[in-house]
Amino acid sequence: MSKFFSSKYSTLEAYVPGEQPKDMKYIKLNTNESPFPPSENALLAAKEEAGKLQLYSDPECTPLVKRMGDVFKIDKECVLMTNGSDEIINFAFMAFCDESHPIVFPDITYGFYPVFAELNHIPYTVIPLKDDFSIDYNDYVGIGKNIIIANPNAPTGMALPLWQIEKIVASNPDNVVIIDEAYVDFGAESAVQLTKKYDNLLVTGTFSKSRSLAGARLGFGIGNKELIADLNTVKYSTNPYNVNRMTMAVGCAVLDDNDYYMNNCKTVMENREYTKNALEKMGFFVLPSFANFVFARHSEISGAELYLELKKRGILIRHFTKEKIKDFNRITIGTKDMMDKLIDTISDILKEKQNENL
Ligand code: PMP
Repeated sequence: MSKFFSSKYSTLEAYVPGEQPKDMKYIKLNTNESPFPPSENALLAAKEEAGKLQLYSDPECTPLVKRMGDVFKIDKECVLMTNGSDEIINFAFMAFCDESHPIVFPDITYGFYPVFAELNHIPYTVIPLKDDFSIDYNDYVGIGKNIIIANPNAPTGMALPLWQIEKIVASNPDNVVIIDEAYVDFGAESAVQLTKKYDNLLVTGTFSKSRSLAGARLGFGIGNKELIADLNTVKYSTNPYNVNRMTMAVGCAVLDDNDYYMNNCKTVMENREYTKNALEKMGFFVLPSFANFVFARHSEISGAELYLELKKRGILIRHFTKEKIKDFNRITIGTKDMMDKLIDTISDILKEKQNENL
């Protein structure tokens, strides 16, 4: 740390993204990216737009917002596009939370929430998951604080039904409830339409997972138009051109090709059930997942050891060191070929381990 670093941030523990090693070619099942490339139209759109990069992007994201309105069936004043959904989540923390408006979230959830709270000096409370790793929605009913819940949750993959989300939103009318739907397209119920009924609900989403654009950085928030106006005040006070030209063009093409991406989600969901069954046959305990990953543990090999053994063999998965989940690994769902390779490799590792123990 330099002597110039502001004391505001000196104790901040930054978010640690999933590793992106360059030493060899890995099968990457560690950061929940889509295994499918963007559609042809999206690639063409990027190429065309590259020739106009001398010009700033449209800060209102006009063509993209119009398509968002069509695809999500919402008014264009009710959407804000951002540089990944991490940005909209940070904007929401900045806009709606402070010393007297603290926030709550589950103890096991997306690791960025406590970081954004610390960054913005927002008091926060964590609420434990139930023993089965699900969220008890009753814990949030009438809590009287701002709330952020990832639905499906990460890294568990478990989801709350829409009626429970609605109970949480309806019972906290004086607080903002943020539902982070980064993984919603893989089988959970979206709360987007509830934003028409409740002025305290903000739904956030991303093109990083179901729409194959993790590298383009495109996220969004959908909510009542006054919430969106507040978020715009924060955006125009930090980075008005937050969505770059190429990403905007690609985002439009992606929404025009929505069926291609939604079909890819179906394939991922099929591959998820296939992988879950295969892991269970090998003795894993696998949480029910509504996301593009599974969260699994095995009684004969620790989470850390399995992660390291797979890495040695060219497969990356995600291991978290937090005490409550250290026995688990989060495995992104890829193509059927990728999952077969994973299953065969895990089977070899388990056999070697059994032989060692003879
Ligand atoms: N929310 C959750 C629950 C996530 O897992 C992620 C991905 N790391 C994000 C939000 C942010 O994704 P992005 O910034 O790529 O849109």
